[in-house]
Amino acid sequence: MKHTVLIQKDKTVSEMVAQAFEEFCNIDLHGKNVLVKPNMLRAAQPDEAVITDPQLIKETVAFLLDRGAHVSVGDNPVPTHAYSEMQIAEQSGFLEASYGRFKNIGQHSTKLNPDSALLKEIYVSRDVLECDILVSLPKFRTHDLTTMTLAIKNQYGIVPGGLKPYIHSLFPRIEDFSRVLLEIYALRPPNIIMVDCLHCIDAKGKRFTPNTIIAGANGHAVDYVCAQIAAIDPDFIPTIRIAREHKLFTPSGIKMKGTFEKLKGYSAPFRFPFRNAVVELVARVLYKIWLHRAPVLDSSVCTQCLSCEAVCPVDAIDQQTIDYKRCIKCYCCLEICPEGAIKAKYRLR
Ligand code: SF4
Ligand code: SF4
Repeated sequence: MKHTVLIQKDKTVSEMVAQAFEEFCNIDLHGKNVLVKPNMLRAAQPDEAVITDPQLIKETVAFLLDRGAHVSVGDNPVPTHAYSEMQIAEQSGFLEASYGRFKNIGQHSTKLNPDSALLKEIYVSRDVLECDILVSLPKFRTHDLTTMTLAIKNQYGIVPGGLKPYIHSLFPRIEDFSRVLLEIYALRPPNIIMVDCLHCIDAKGKRFTPNTIIAGANGHAVDYVCAQIAAIDPDFIPTIRIAREHKLFTPSGIKMKGTFEKLKGYSAPFRFPFRNAVVELVARVLYKIWLHRAPVLDSSVCTQCLSCEAVCPVDAIDQQTIDYKRCIKCYCCLEICPEGAIKAKYRLR
């Protein structure tokens, strides 16, 4: 099967967005519920090049609104002590870029029981499952564990908040975690992907301004081309290698359109013998520590509105008491509490 990947360079962002939709999503968008999923790792400024450039979000939303679509923009990074998702969105410029349409897509989730090798049960954002069109806007950047984070990794954000580190803890081996990423991607692949490679930073902190958007409808093919642009052997990226081995795409079936140009001098994360074993060990220790973080309800602040009970996907909250044996640490209750009565804290079991 052929998969087209469109590489556009040195045009305005609005022109590149329009061209990508014409190529991969050329349908009547009027009245369609469209969810735009950027990569919102943490509160960051665009020049840090770790989150999707707000300019790409803005032009995508403007394009969709112009065609009469019902648009929302959403992601759900793990909230920190300092910031909630909405505060992260505001500080990253996502609220403004989405014309106020940003939402935390981790607030309501649905349990799925996929027929897959590793995941037997998973909670996924309801917004993602229910939208008509899903637009993925990954950031082109390196990642210590998975080498690069692109289209496949961006879909990990459809899993609610704190559940993401929990899944990491269950599958600390890079090989297993990469398979889990592929299984999650398969639950709801995006209709169109536009990778933000407007400007990027490599693993050594060197800056590039390719002013490029790499678009497609198949995440494996898009990631393969992105790896080649970064001059990284695609097989170094486990999600690409495993997808190729499982024939989710074939490199020879990729049809590139546009100008292919490698980023000269782009450095991947440092690799050394036993790297995987060391990274996996560190990940295992960090997640063990992380697992002691849990939602804690302050009943002196609680007004008993019951919102947290209603939102909890596993019915772990009853009368201001959290059942930690049931809790999956999705942190939906933190986000929904209007009083800020629930906080993520470290607690001894
Ligand atoms: S109590 Fe429920 S809503 Fe809160 S983190 Fe646990 S599972 Fe999620
Ligand atoms: S959402 Fe907050 S205020 Fe409402 S019942 Fe839960 S803890 Fe109490």
